[in-house]
Amino acid sequence: MKFIYSPLTARVIFEPGALNHVANEMASIGSRALILSTLEQRAGAEDVARRLGEVAVGVFDRAAMHVPTEAVVAAESAARSSHADCTVAFGGGSTIGMAKALALRLGLPFMAIPTTYAGSEMTPIWGMTDAGLKRTGRDTKVLARVVLYDPELTVSLPFGMSVTSGMNAIAHCVEALYAPDANPITSLMAEEAIRAIATALPRLAIDSTDIAARSTALYGAWLGGSVLGSVGMALHHKLCHTLGGAFNLPHSETHTAVLPHSAAYNAPAAPEAMKRVARALGCEDAPLGLYELARGLGAEMSLGRLGLSSESVRPAAELALQNAYANPRPLTLAGIEQLIARAHAGSNPSGGGL
Ligand code: NAD
Repeated sequence: MKFIYSPLTARVIFEPGALNHVANEMASIGSRALILSTLEQRAGAEDVARRLGEVAVGVFDRAAMHVPTEAVVAAESAARSSHADCTVAFGGGSTIGMAKALALRLGLPFMAIPTTYAGSEMTPIWGMTDAGLKRTGRDTKVLARVVLYDPELTVSLPFGMSVTSGMNAIAHCVEALYAPDANPITSLMAEEAIRAIATALPRLAIDSTDIAARSTALYGAWLGGSVLGSVGMALHHKLCHTLGGAFNLPHSETHTAVLPHSAAYNAPAAPEAMKRVARALGCEDAPLGLYELARGLGAEMSLGRLGLSSESVRPAAELALQNAYANPRPLTLAGIEQLIARAHAGSNPSGGGL
């Protein structure tokens, strides 16, 4: 056995009602906080501001998908004019992405209060989009100082988004299990996260306000974000990044539709990882188990119905092959094209033999 493990540290507070700790926890981060959210989540951000009292110097509610540079520039100006010395991100990956952009560009430390299962709050990965082109990078400057995980804040996440966001977290774990820099801890976390989310989502289908199930799903999201931040991702994330950026497909929905097929592509080259995924899902065949989990919960499994035209299948495959990156199975244009074609159709991944 041989591995390197260098955990990234954020103080994590996890409990139903964790939001009650926001004022106390701010003390270690700053004394003038700009609260960030999307327009849809402004009421939640205002609640945070109210809890912080004088420490809150404003609410900026224009966080948006893929962190557009114009929004970052507007947030920078709000931060400067209010003399903010830190931020609080209240929301999903888009809002946390905004806090990371401000941490990177202005050096503002931040607290994350995640309300989806995307996991960005645990990673040193930032992204910003300029004129349709998304740049990403890694920098420890963009790590959250404190993360408040409050399952009560996820109850409002619509069930359909809970499913795709949960599948997004599972995708981090599937790729973490076959990452070249995987280590025993990240693999334990990844398998446990898949088990937690796959157990929680069907319970949320029965009652999406079930706090115990919401807690289990958010616990899985924390683990999923942790492994995403610790080890390298491969074909699946590269494909979803390409499809989202170049073809404007929605983030978590795209992860959901592609995951069974990227897992099927890599399965012959990653048998141990697939065994662990299948064990966590309680099934025989990992790609099929992923497909049935998502489809059984009503997720859209066709990239075509998510907005990818059939003419875009080949260009998407060509784009995904640009820039070499580590992947358990060698990438071929024909193989990737077939993978995307299957995801485009939303067909069952168990046909195998890509
Ligand atoms: P999101 O943050 O874009 O949120 C989607 C929508 O759901 C928004 O309108 C938001 O306001 C709303 N929403 C969020 N939580 C809610 C709740 N509890 N109740 C009601 N509405 C709620 O979605 P996301 O999937 O969390 O994030 C996607 C973005 O995050 C993408 O840009 C992706 O690239 C990025 N991301 C980055 C990392 C990283 O490590 N850098 C990791 C994962 C995702």
